[in-house]
Amino acid sequence: MEEVKKENMEKEEKEVVSKNFIEQMIEKDLEEGVYEQVCTRFPPEPNGYLHIGHAKSILLNYGLAKKYHGNFHMRFDDTNPTKERQEFVESIKQDIQWLGADWGDTVYFASDYFEQMYQAAVKLIKKGKAYVCDLSADEIREYRGTLKVPGKESPYRNRTVEENLQLFEDMKNGKYQDGEKVLRAKIDMSSPNINMRDPVLYRVARMTHHNTGDQWCIYPMYDFAHPIEDAIEGITHSICTLEFEDHRPLYEWVVNELEYPHPPKQIEFAKLYLTNVVTGKRYIKKLVEDGIVDGWDDPRLVSIAALRRRGFTPEALQNFIELCGVSKANSSVDYAMLEYCIREDLKLKRPRMMAVLDPIKLVIDNYPEGQVEYLDVTNNLENEELGSRKVPFCRELYIERDDFMEEPPKKYFRLFPGNEVRLMHAYFVKCESFVKDENGNITEVHCTYDPETKAGSGFTGRKVKGTIHWVPAPYAVQAEVRLYENIVDEEKGVYSEDGSINVNPNSLTVLKNCMVEPSFDDAKAYDSYQFVRQGFFCVDVKDSTPEHLVFNRIVSLKSSFKINK
Ligand code: ATP
Ligand code: MG
Repeated sequence: MEEVKKENMEKEEKEVVSKNFIEQMIEKDLEEGVYEQVCTRFPPEPNGYLHIGHAKSILLNYGLAKKYHGNFHMRFDDTNPTKERQEFVESIKQDIQWLGADWGDTVYFASDYFEQMYQAAVKLIKKGKAYVCDLSADEIREYRGTLKVPGKESPYRNRTVEENLQLFEDMKNGKYQDGEKVLRAKIDMSSPNINMRDPVLYRVARMTHHNTGDQWCIYPMYDFAHPIEDAIEGITHSICTLEFEDHRPLYEWVVNELEYPHPPKQIEFAKLYLTNVVTGKRYIKKLVEDGIVDGWDDPRLVSIAALRRRGFTPEALQNFIELCGVSKANSSVDYAMLEYCIREDLKLKRPRMMAVLDPIKLVIDNYPEGQVEYLDVTNNLENEELGSRKVPFCRELYIERDDFMEEPPKKYFRLFPGNEVRLMHAYFVKCESFVKDENGNITEVHCTYDPETKAGSGFTGRKVKGTIHWVPAPYAVQAEVRLYENIVDEEKGVYSEDGSINVNPNSLTVLKNCMVEPSFDDAKAYDSYQFVRQGFFCVDVKDSTPEHLVFNRIVSLKSSFKINK
């Protein structure tokens, strides 16, 4: 009894310690009755595919809603029509679903609130808190001042409420050209926070919107639209990234002036960055547009679509995000940590198959021609539930080219003339001779096998130091394997001086002549496997067919990365 109590106490203590600052804030708000029920949202702009940084935001927001039995909203922040596209709306939904965040029955669109935003602007005008300004964009910038110099008031700042109402309506009705007039908040031109120096709330822009078509020719600015979207939906904690910290006073100004009964709170956290990886949407877009990668889902990218195509699982990403934690300080996470998470996830879940990436033939001279043995191979020694399969063994096999050396260096325990190794799941073989072509390349290795040494037979007569994998030549299936390195040149860093990306010329290696065991009959897109000694591989969704299997290497088996537990 005492033991159990102690354990529980320790558990509780751990939980308290591990709470991040956002959780602490939420719990305080709930305790003090500021809000009854937590409501969070993920508000992407549909102007590109989501990446791993967004995954952090999604899982954070969704995780908080779930933890505190609240709601999570999926909302497209589509108030800027120029860059937004339906293709992105669809891909974003698919990615969030795949990640395991459940937004319930409703998908929200900020553009559905254009009328309410318009009415909110009218309310501000009526309160004398907003005015129509005729200064040009350049003049507005000039009047705004700098960090050291206070701003100057616009000559249009003191228009009457009536005049402002009329002009704003005229703006809406298309009476003015793009850029001719804007609506501005009337706050404080000498505020030390430049965001508070009468920021623009609405602009005239004749653009067709993917949702509202040509209904509007005025569009709200982000800093005005976002707090309204949150307030309309009853969001309690509006979580965003650090670059918005300076915008928080404006967020608060908007929700307070509009007198929402339970105004949402903005909370900032640090963006997720990975070492030697391009995360910004802008940069991914550039790689796609310049044709350096084969689309948004190129497996070298860290868009969610790319990670999925490469063979990452939602569980691995969830675990990774959990390990990253939530912080107020910007920092980069080692890419190796992501690799660690996918290895850990697949290790027990996936069968361990034999695949030869760079084959040479091995002939067992004393094995009867035409004979076949079907070896019983356990799919994963650490997980019996995955069962076993039959692998044919015969006289001619393929092995890895680098598992044979004519003149081995010290400590090379694989095949070389006179040496004996174990063929995985099968017999000991001893290298007797080899054949070279006219260019000096090894084309065949000849061995003899010892029938006494069959795996599982209990043979203890002698030991060998090396075990190599193989596939049976007459039954092998030819496959294409793609190996990846970081898209960015690690030596040079992500960006060169002119701002372009330092692309690693070796980021993709295509091996067209790989040989895999015949057990991949039902392999389909996104299925993944361990290839013994080579890593984890996933069937490519774009290019693989039952006739021509294509595998992406997700990750190799070894890593220097150690997690502090
Ligand atoms: P990018 O910086 O890649 O262009 P973005 O911020 O413009 O991304 P949005 O669609 O506006 O993309 O982002 C949706 C949400 O995802 C926002 O709340 C944003 O703060 C969050 N987010 C974007 N990038 C990251 C990141 N690297 N780490 C954590 N959250 C992020
Ligand atoms: Mg953005």
